[in-house]
Amino acid sequence: MEANLNPRSGNTMPDAPAQEQARLAALDRYDLLDTPPEESFDRVTRLTRRVFTVGMSTVTLIDGHRQWFKSRQGMADAETERGPALCNAAINELSPLIVHDTLADPRFATNPFVVGAPFIRFYAGVQLRTADGHAIGTLCAMDDKPRAFGDEDLATLVDLGRIVMHEAELRAFAMSDSLTGVLSRRAFRNEAARTIDLARRHKHDLSCVLFDLDHFKAVNDTHGHGVGDLVLRATADVCREELRAADAVGRVGGEEFAILLPHTGLPAAMAVAEKLRAALARAYVQGESGTVRPTASFGIAALDATAPDIDELLRRADKALYAAKEAGRNVCRAWRPEAGDGFAGVRRRVLKGARIAFNGGHSIIDCTVRELSDAGALLHVMSTANVPEEFKLGILADQVHRLCKVTARRDALLEVAFQ
Ligand code: GH3
Ligand code: MG
Ligand code: MG
Repeated sequence: MEANLNPRSGNTMPDAPAQEQARLAALDRYDLLDTPPEESFDRVTRLTRRVFTVGMSTVTLIDGHRQWFKSRQGMADAETERGPALCNAAINELSPLIVHDTLADPRFATNPFVVGAPFIRFYAGVQLRTADGHAIGTLCAMDDKPRAFGDEDLATLVDLGRIVMHEAELRAFAMSDSLTGVLSRRAFRNEAARTIDLARRHKHDLSCVLFDLDHFKAVNDTHGHGVGDLVLRATADVCREELRAADAVGRVGGEEFAILLPHTGLPAAMAVAEKLRAALARAYVQGESGTVRPTASFGIAALDATAPDIDELLRRADKALYAAKEAGRNVCRAWRPEAGDGFAGVRRRVLKGARIAFNGGHSIIDCTVRELSDAGALLHVMSTANVPEEFKLGILADQVHRLCKVTARRDALLEVAFQ
């Protein structure tokens, strides 16, 4: 392992990469990262803020390179860098981290979140621990003033933390999405794995359709979140009306749905997608400030020897969906192989902490590897702006280094090819 991959001072990463890898795998099982706010978690942060009369409370998850808030009260940002996060310090402790006055604590007195926004002076964080002992994040109470925190307070916070974990467990095992009634992402993936196994064994066709509502942010902005929710329900209704009973429908993202079509090759799947697209374009939801007519863009991919599992099928459908968005939205597109795509190794969905090194190893950016194959990877960073076209990637748990070339940048994601 190179010097630049050794744990830095300041607790950016815990000492044991293998333990961190197991922790990230545990976090991944809950499938909470980058999901919309949910009342069951917001209720707890509201309550936390109220019972301790503090300004801020969050349910924080510690991802490979960032802290991300599943729920937040009084906190402006939805995520921050992991390194200086007090919640990141908290997950490395065995007992809750209580700091009555951060300015009087040498560990935190110069911390950017203490001396700068959100000016944390008081911090109390209880670890969100899985049954097998991994701290995936924290429930915390914070204020911009110092505060005492007695044993009774601590006992209350510990109980509230247990409620958060209980909600996370319930949510992880729920088969259906509570808003729309279609399969949850986890259930969809399980169902897909089973159906794909069967299709491969019996050499049946199978296709996957992925669609994403167009300009949905504008629907929420114009008509409100409640009407947005109604549109999501109407979308699920359209799927139920148009599809066969054997077709599995899952809500795999906020406004993204996936459908698995057994016994269906690519041309037939295109026809199904087109039928759905048209039916959705006819649907409408009545809001107070007008009628919403939702549309969606569709990506379609078929099972074959080079796309043998649900991860690769979804990845291909996602590429096709991206092409459908590029083509102007409200259209269907099938996945097409690109040069070097699909044959250079199947990409697996992973969650691994890693470092991007360049400038002779003097510049380091933390990232999380989301997908990995022999030929390349999908990386998640706080910002792609400072990442050069070529760099060295160090995957901490695997102690692997690869020279990378960036092949695409979108939002906070980088696609890279290994050199
Ligand atoms: P595009 O056509 O490119 O897909 O544009 P978009 O606006 O749909 O894309 P974007 O990903 O920027 O916005 C997705 C929006 O979906 C943002 C988010 O607030 C909203 N959303 C996600 N989940 C839910 C939900 O459960 N309910 C509501 N009402 N909105 C949601
Ligand atoms: Mg969308
Ligand atoms: Mg989307």
